[in-house]
Amino acid sequence: MLSVKTALGNAFAMVPQERTSSLVDPFGRAVTYLRVSVTDRCDFRCMYCMSEDMTFLPKAEILTLEELDRLCGAFVRLGIRKLRVTGGEPLVRRNVMSLFHALGRHLSAGALDELTVTTNASQLSRFATELADVGVKRVNISLDSRDPERFRTITRWGRLDRVFEGIEAAKAAGLRVKINTVALKGVNDDEFDDLASWCGVEGFDLTFIEVMPMGEIGPQRLDQFLPLTTVRERLELRWTLVDVEERTGGPAHYVRVAETGQRIGFITPLTHNFCEGCNRVRLTCTGTLYMCLGQENSADLRAALRESESDAPLVAAITAAIGRKPRGHDFVIDRQNRPSVPRHMSVTGG
Ligand code: SAM
Ligand code: SF4
Repeated sequence: MLSVKTALGNAFAMVPQERTSSLVDPFGRAVTYLRVSVTDRCDFRCMYCMSEDMTFLPKAEILTLEELDRLCGAFVRLGIRKLRVTGGEPLVRRNVMSLFHALGRHLSAGALDELTVTTNASQLSRFATELADVGVKRVNISLDSRDPERFRTITRWGRLDRVFEGIEAAKAAGLRVKINTVALKGVNDDEFDDLASWCGVEGFDLTFIEVMPMGEIGPQRLDQFLPLTTVRERLELRWTLVDVEERTGGPAHYVRVAETGQRIGFITPLTHNFCEGCNRVRLTCTGTLYMCLGQENSADLRAALRESESDAPLVAAITAAIGRKPRGHDFVIDRQNRPSVPRHMSVTGG
């Protein structure tokens, strides 16, 4: 632990430090985790994430896979130890496995501790074995319902049978699976026990996520919000939840289910401020670096990347950006139901 005295008061007074990164922000937080969105496109249209008629970024603006690899390489050299590939749906990007192969070399070289992916699993049956081969050890799979009709309603376009095929393929390939479930009032709030029980049997960790006010999706946002304090109270009617004192630098608070031994995480951006231990930044598929999921503050790394064959301008741009990482997010759902962050989660990468 490192004592950090800032003008901002006690919230940042004792921040766990990872000393491997040369990327340290103004609040003394070492940045060791990069999430990379490789596309803003998706084969689903989840009701809380996208509107049905999304306008996606023009293809010309998207970084090539080679450029994404070069950018990630620069971050790894600066001290990033964990990379998560996300989107949109990362596995719908054409030839995305070539990027995984390229990134896998940092694992073999010992420069990276972990390479992971967040996916809706619709394409996972095709790629699970190859992901395991390049060194991916675990995957986060988003699944908000195990009921096919309801799953269809939530994702608009998704097919649950494909997702289950993907999950089976991940298991067969030896990948550890964590299920991410967005808690949606009046939509899936009668299924949490069932999900906990299924994850217990399958040996999957489970994380519940509160709906975050990101991007225009229509009028339903306020209606969907369900505080995870309520989710936890409901789970506790059936399960014994034991708090796990473990900091991941992320927004999740974990408990262990005594009856199954599995972990359940709660990501509560709206009801609990998790920013003081934040160790991550997010890169979009156009090369924009967001230093905080809940702030507009960003840096254009594409210009620095394309300016020179040398990585010097890029390294300078990354270092300067980390120097502007804000203290925390400003998420609120306002009374007019406007998103507090105008970009969709699929752009920044969840
Ligand atoms: N398509 C992949 C998937 O669904 O796993 C990866 C990208 S998706 C944007 C990443 C995560 O963000 C998913 O678990 C999704 O449920 C979550 N998500 C998307 N929009 C959200 C929102 N407005 N609030 C909370 N979570 C959201
Ligand atoms: Fe696609 Fe993931 Fe967003 Fe659903 S949550 S629409 S699967 S990007």
